[in-house]
Amino acid sequence: MDRLETIGNDGIPVRLREVQARIRAAVERARRPPGSVALLAVSKTHGSDAVRAAYAAGQRAFGESYAQEAIEKIALLADLADIEWHFIGRIQGNKTRQIATRFDWVHGLSDAAHARRLSEQRPSELPPLKVCIQVNVSGETTKGGVEPDAVAAMIAACETLPGLDVRGLMTLPAPAEDDDSRRAPFRALRLLRDRLATPNRPLECLSMGMSDDLEAAILEGSTLVRVGTAVFGPRSYNAEQ
Ligand SMILES: *Cc1c(COP(=O)(O)O)cnc(C)c1O
Repeated sequence: MDRLETIGNDGIPVRLREVQARIRAAVERARRPPGSVALLAVSKTHGSDAVRAAYAAGQRAFGESYAQEAIEKIALLADLADIEWHFIGRIQGNKTRQIATRFDWVHGLSDAAHARRLSEQRPSELPPLKVCIQVNVSGETTKGGVEPDAVAAMIAACETLPGLDVRGLMTLPAPAEDDDSRRAPFRALRLLRDRLATPNRPLECLSMGMSDDLEAAILEGSTLVRVGTAVFGPRSYNAEQ
C-alpha cells in the first residue's frame, strides 16, 4: 500500500523532500516569506534508525508522543548534534519529570498542574522548556486542550513559572472533509493568537497542520507543521492522539 513499507528507511530522504516541497508551495501560495514554516518530523512509533535516516537528510526537529518510547529513542540518538526533541503527546502526570529532563519543547500543554510540575522539574542547567498551549478550537473535547476563553489565564499562569517559556499555541482539530472546514479551526487559532499577543509575548509559534492538512494550516498562518506519516510512512500501531 505504501511505498515506505517496501523500501524502508531508504525512502525517508525522498519523502522528506516531498514534504518540504509541499511546505514551500503552500508558503508561496499564501504569499508568506520563504522559510517561515518549520517542519517537525513526527517519529513516534518509528525506530531510531528512521530518525537517523531523516537526520542524515538534514532534518533536526523531531516529535514524539509517548514518553517511555521517546526516552529510549533519545538515549540511542544521543550522539546526534543539534537534534531537537518536541513532546507532542498527551501529558501524563507521572511522566512530567522525563519530559522536563529530556525534551526541548512541549506542544499540547493544557493543564496548569502539569505546567507547574514541568517547571519545577526542568533542570536548572537547561534553558526553560519551550511550550505551546493546546487550544480546543473545534470543540473537540476528547482531544484535550484549553477552551479558547481560558487560554489567557493559562498563559498568565505559565508566565509565572521560571522553568517554562511560552512560545505560542497548538491545535489538533478533528479531520475534516472539505477545505473550508479544514481551515476554520486553524484560522480560529491564529485569530486567538493575534488577540493575545503582546510585544513582550508575541506567541510567535502556531503549531498546526499535519500530513493531511498542512496546506490548509500554512494558508492560515501555521509556523510549525507536525508531520509523521508523510515523512516516515504509516505507523505500525495507532497513536491515541
Ligand atoms: C501523530 C501526530 C502528528 C502527526 O500526524 P500525521 O498525520 O502522521 O502527520 C501530529 N501532531 C500530533 C499531536 C500527533 O499526535
